[in-house]
Amino acid sequence: KSFASFGFRPELMQGIQDLYYKEPTAIQEEAIPLILEGKDVIGQAQTGTGKTAAFMLPILNGLEEGKRDIQALILTPTRELSIQIAKEVEKLGKHVNVNVLSLHGGTDIDKQLNKLKDTVHIVVGTPGRVLDHMKRGSLHFGRISTLVLDEADKMMEMGFLEDVEQVIVHTPNQRQVLLFSATMPDTVKKLAHRFMKQPPHIKI
Ligand code: AMP
Repeated sequence: KSFASFGFRPELMQGIQDLYYKEPTAIQEEAIPLILEGKDVIGQAQTGTGKTAAFMLPILNGLEEGKRDIQALILTPTRELSIQIAKEVEKLGKHVNVNVLSLHGGTDIDKQLNKLKDTVHIVVGTPGRVLDHMKRGSLHFGRISTLVLDEADKMMEMGFLEDVEQVIVHTPNQRQVLLFSATMPDTVKKLAHRFMKQPPHIKI
């Protein structure tokens, strides 16, 4: 399998080449075709397997740069992970002209929004922080097409269940949900059962 087999747009292939990624990792090879089909997907994979690119490449491939609505929301357990994912978006999406906003403690949201001239395509953040901005009305997730729950087991461990649920119910019914988790405890299974539509479960 090669990246070319996914049929990605040329701008995205250029980003992949710039990073010297030669071939897809196992999780990418299995998850990307299903995600491109529009399916909800559970990916059971540890950090270091290339799981971030597994969900981000399909999101970037389908990105509509001219649209002003937020198109994808990625929930992550920690500030560090949030920043790391945003950096990866910038790298992979270098030729796609993507605007990504990382929401975490210490972010001056007004400054950032201003810098991005109000167009944000992808938001990455911790559940509490994202919920905060949703309640304040500074960001709207009513038109996203993809929701990613990254390191779902860790988010549950950290007590984010209620925040995650509250965010999810404010996203459209038809959105695609991608859940990544190193382990599948009951809390994560329940979350998947409640909010995902017959997701294939990939385990690496
Ligand atoms: P992750 O599991 O998402 O934290 O990714 C681990 C590391 O693998 C990151 O530094 C990525 O930039 C890198 N990576 C992701 N996909 C590939 C690939 N197909 N080939 C080589 N490196 C990759």
